[in-house]
Amino acid sequence: MLIETVSLKLELLCNGVSFTKDFLEYYQARTDHIEKRRPYGTGDSIILNSSTRTPQEIILDRQIIAAANYNPDSDYRITLEQETPVLKHGNRTMRITFPNRPRSYGKYLSNGELFEKHITAYGDSTLGIFSPGHCYYFNDGNECKFCSLGSARETLFDHKMRIKGDIAGEAVTMAIKEENGRYKRVLLNGGTIPNYDKGYSIHLDLLEQVKNTNLQSSLEYHLISMPPKDFRLFDRFKKIGNNMSMSLEVFNPDLFSEICPGKARDYTRERFLAAFEAAVDVLGRGNVYAGFVAGMEPLESIIEGIEYFGDMGVVPAVAAFHPDAGSQYYNRQRPSVDFLMKLGKKMSEIYRKEGFQPLIEGSGRNSLDTEAYLGGFL
Ligand code: SF4
Repeated sequence: MLIETVSLKLELLCNGVSFTKDFLEYYQARTDHIEKRRPYGTGDSIILNSSTRTPQEIILDRQIIAAANYNPDSDYRITLEQETPVLKHGNRTMRITFPNRPRSYGKYLSNGELFEKHITAYGDSTLGIFSPGHCYYFNDGNECKFCSLGSARETLFDHKMRIKGDIAGEAVTMAIKEENGRYKRVLLNGGTIPNYDKGYSIHLDLLEQVKNTNLQSSLEYHLISMPPKDFRLFDRFKKIGNNMSMSLEVFNPDLFSEICPGKARDYTRERFLAAFEAAVDVLGRGNVYAGFVAGMEPLESIIEGIEYFGDMGVVPAVAAFHPDAGSQYYNRQRPSVDFLMKLGKKMSEIYRKEGFQPLIEGSGRNSLDTEAYLGGFL
């Protein structure tokens, strides 16, 4: 059953989903289901009117989380049958569910601001903080070409640009008080500022404050960040977080420069590789993750990358590319099911051989990590 469910997730990631009018009307009224929020990207091929509620994730077979990336041309359609949402493709009809809307959404913090200006529930069990909500690579058109952060923040103003540690800490306290046992972790991610050491240190300050405000909880703390230039800062992370991911995105050197020009120019691939080595020295094998986007380079090239990192003790974390409205690659093709299946299988082999765990187990809606860990690829 797991293999069929994982296969369906891949089909959804490779096609996106469309919604019928009936379903959209149903979802607009079902305020117990979570609505899509966009702290770091648009996530959809086309943005429906911002007041239209669409699902953020779909839960398949009550166990696998898949992104609900809207694509009006997709043959995978969410519709209603006997007033219940179902996913349809050709003659197939599949029962689906959605994560609950967090009880903290709509509640106010002590500074008078809404909880959800600071935190987005992600993949049902993760409290996501995204700060800063700007990346300087956008200033001169050198952003990663698949990234739609700039557009998401220009058109939708539903998140704070800079999140402060004290308020974020208070928001996390509220979330775990409202829904005891639901959340497993805090995930901090953010745009890049020109001073890499300062940007990384600001992330650590924020994470530390959130953690210190919630010492009684069993939450884990994860960071996705550009690496610092001063690798001694990894020692400080070790005292605060559980594990850390740095996104090289593309392994092939020429394609990395083409697709992530800001990272290639100002940080460089060589420094990235050195940062991974240094981070593993400090945090240990299996505690550092390398983020990739599947669909940016040939299969052999990304497989070479995940093997390279696996040997180094770095866990490959792979997300499937989706063409976001507002990104330079809004029109680019998604990867095929066959591509993701072969890649997932290779990831499974590496995870098993090295004893790796997924970064945010059960929560990565666009990623193959949990499914690779569970052995869900043919
Ligand atoms: S580093 Fe790249 S992917 Fe990350 S926010 Fe900046 S442009 Fe987007």
